[in-house]
This record gives sequence, C-alpha cells and structure tokens, in this order.
Amino acid sequence: MGASAATLRETLAAIVGDAHLLVEAHATAPYLVDARNRFHGAALAVVRPDGTDEVAAVVRACAGAGVTVVAQGGNTGLCGGATPDPSGGSVVVSLARMRRIRSVDPANATVTVEAGATLAEVQAAAAAAGLRFPLSLASEGSCTIGGNIATNAGGTAVLRYGNTRAQVLGLEVVLADGRVWNGLRALRKDNTGYDLKQLFIGSEGTLGIVTAAVLTLVAPAHSRATALAALTDLAQAVLLLSRMKEALGDRLTGFELMSDVALGLSRKHHPDLPDPLPGHAWYALIQADAGAGATTLAADVEAALAEAIAADAADDATVAASGEQAKRLWALRENISEAQRREGPNVKHDIALPASAIPAFVASCGSALAMSFPEAHLVVFGHLGDGNLHYNVAAASGASAESLMHRAADINRIVYDEVNAHGGTISAEHGIGQLKREALARYRSPLELELMRRVKDALDPHGVFNPGKVLPDAARP
Ligand code: ZN
Repeated sequence: MGASAATLRETLAAIVGDAHLLVEAHATAPYLVDARNRFHGAALAVVRPDGTDEVAAVVRACAGAGVTVVAQGGNTGLCGGATPDPSGGSVVVSLARMRRIRSVDPANATVTVEAGATLAEVQAAAAAAGLRFPLSLASEGSCTIGGNIATNAGGTAVLRYGNTRAQVLGLEVVLADGRVWNGLRALRKDNTGYDLKQLFIGSEGTLGIVTAAVLTLVAPAHSRATALAALTDLAQAVLLLSRMKEALGDRLTGFELMSDVALGLSRKHHPDLPDPLPGHAWYALIQADAGAGATTLAADVEAALAEAIAADAADDATVAASGEQAKRLWALRENISEAQRREGPNVKHDIALPASAIPAFVASCGSALAMSFPEAHLVVFGHLGDGNLHYNVAAASGASAESLMHRAADINRIVYDEVNAHGGTISAEHGIGQLKREALARYRSPLELELMRRVKDALDPHGVFNPGKVLPDAARP
C-alpha cells in the first residue's frame, strides 16, 4: 500500500470512526460483489458514514487525494452499478447506517428520509402516518430508497403511480467537490429554473451521492381486488389492459404479465401455489385499489372481466375471494425470478416497449432467437401495464446453460436490435450500470451520448463518482 493510500485511510478513519472504515478482505467482501454474483470489484476501503456531513467529508478527502468514490445502498441492483471496478482504486461509501426518517408531514402527504432507509422502512413510516408510499418491488425489504432513487426503480405499481422519479419532490445531494446541495423542498409545483433533482435521479451514483429525499405519499387503499386472467396471446393481453383501464380508471394499480412457462417455473419451485386456470399461453395478474368510501370494487372488477371475456379480450378469469388468495396469486408472479435463479443462469433483459408494439416484438424476437438459438427457451413476464417486459432467455431442458451464457452478447444483440426496431428501450427499470454500458452506446444517438457526457462533465469534472458506470468510455473526450 502506498503512502498516499495509508494517509487517505487515516483521514477516512478520522471522519467515520475506526469501526466504520473497513479494509480487511473479510469485512469488505460483501460490498465488492453484486447481488447476482455477476460483478466482482476491489476497493481501497469501504466506509460507512453516519450523516450527510460525514459523506461530504469523505467525498472531499477522496477528491483531494484523486481517489474515486462508489456509493452503495442495499446492494440489490441488477446491473452492477454499485460494485466498484476491479482496479482497487475506489472507496465504497455505504449509506446503510443513514436510515433515519427525518420527518413526516401528513397534511402535505410527504416524508423526508435518509438514503439508507430500506424501501420497507419508508413504506412503514408512511403507513404509521395513515398514508402509503406506493413504490413496490421484490427487494423492498433490503433495497434502500437511495438506491431506488439512484436507479429510478420501477416495480409493480408504475402503471398507476409512476416510477421512483414520480415519487421524489426534493433531494439532498453531496456533490463531487464535497459541497452539499440542499434541495429538500416538499413542493408539488416549483417552476424555478431547471429541475436539478431530476438529473440525479436515475444517474446511478455518477453525478452525486443522494443522502436524503422528500417523497410524496398517497392515500391508503381501503379495498383491494386481485384477479388472474387467462389469455391466448399478447394481442388479447393488450386489449384486456385497455379495457381494464377504461372500466376501472385510476383504480387499476397493477397489470402484470406471465407466460405459461414463467408461471410453470414458479409453480415447479413452489408446488403449494395455486394453478386456478391451467392450460393457457399467457396470464395477466390484475390489481385494483380503492380509497375510503368505495364499496363496489370487487364487483366492478368482476363485471369488467366478464365483459372482457364476452368480447374475447380474455379466455377466462378468477377474482381472489380473500386477502390470502390474493397473496397466493401474487406469489405466483413474485417467485418467478427466484425460480429462475434455481434453474441456473439465463440471459436477462429488462426492456420496455409501447404496449401496442409488444405483440409484434414478441413474435418477431421469438422467431429471430429460435433461428440462431434453437436450444433456448424464453421466460417472459413483467409489468405489461407500463410496457415493461422481463424477457429472459434460458437453456431448454437438456441444453447447456453455460454454452448459452457464453453467447450472451449475441443473444443481447438480437433482442436489443428487435427492441430498437419496435421503438423500445434496452433498460426499463434496472438501469445501465456496468452491464449495459456498451449497449447504451449502441442504442442512444451520438447527440444523446454527447449531451449525457456534458452533464457528467459539468457536475463531476474530475470523474470522482462511480467510474466505469453508465457512460461508455468511448464517449470520454
Ligand atoms: Zn420488474
């Protein structure tokens, strides 16, 4: 270790305390690999600051020493955005100790929280105030709100409430020179120049470190209806989505899609789960919520589905008769990713398309893949309500997952070219991180890449934050 690294470690220990400067391999290891064990990095140190001032002092010290900084929340990201590069030259800043709920304002329906609070803790703070934080995703028990903001996370309620970006009213951010921008305003209207917070939301730690946020809350759901619809094809799914939107208005909060293969995998690993409508090619899991005073929700959902079936917008449907049944229907959907993990590696895609283009995309991409990869099968599911598909390519039984993974780049190329041709995006809710940097360079125009690079240079001129993430190296001047 060089003298300068030792000096920096001493400075960092003085800022966060010896106990929260981690340098031994066994202590730093969990921070140097992503949740899917796909990206492995190294670091000069991991620090666990407890407070915005400490984060700012850490960034100042690192910037002064010419050392790069990688922010990390719950480390549940799927694109390697929070894993340092293998050079060992970065300091990882874990926000995990900064989990205070700073304040709740029920009359304004807002909560101010620190970045390291888990999504579940934010939801609980909202519920304790008689309100609800609508962001909902599979890792909510361990992902942090700072990570949700850094990646502009989506989840299962985007159809009704929008993604993380739509929930954020204000931010506190540590900048690349160690100054703190206090933008913690709790306003729903504020047209005072450029909306700076939007630059940091979704920037994956490349422009600043979010340390706190003001989030907007909604009224709690007093009644809830959950239904499963069986479908012949995706044209029907898109038609059913339109009909349910029309029938239920903003009471429709979720419209999740599962192929028969995805549902079958979920049930293979959880055979206790129900199979209420066997024998169809696709399924839609539908959720509707209503506020106080509404009494007809379940009946309205049932009527809308009956009309849809009569109009051939669905083959069959069932409405959960209890909260317990609803939970079991949701478990079918929520267990797909874990079931896939147990089956072995697969090539994942988090894509979005206009709903109207999804049937044509799935048909065309499916035949393009079948031509080059006859040994592959598709596990398709996702959030059809906002056009977001998790389009995963796995080895069919008997085929080698390893040889398929070796050709992941070819698979990605086919899928992303098809997505692009159908007006879609290569990342809907997981971000870019390290995983999709090259793809970003391919599918965003030179002008878009130039503008992104200029934003990066304006906010982080010396490249302190999260090197090797989001922007391709080729765009570096
Ligand atoms: Zn998702």
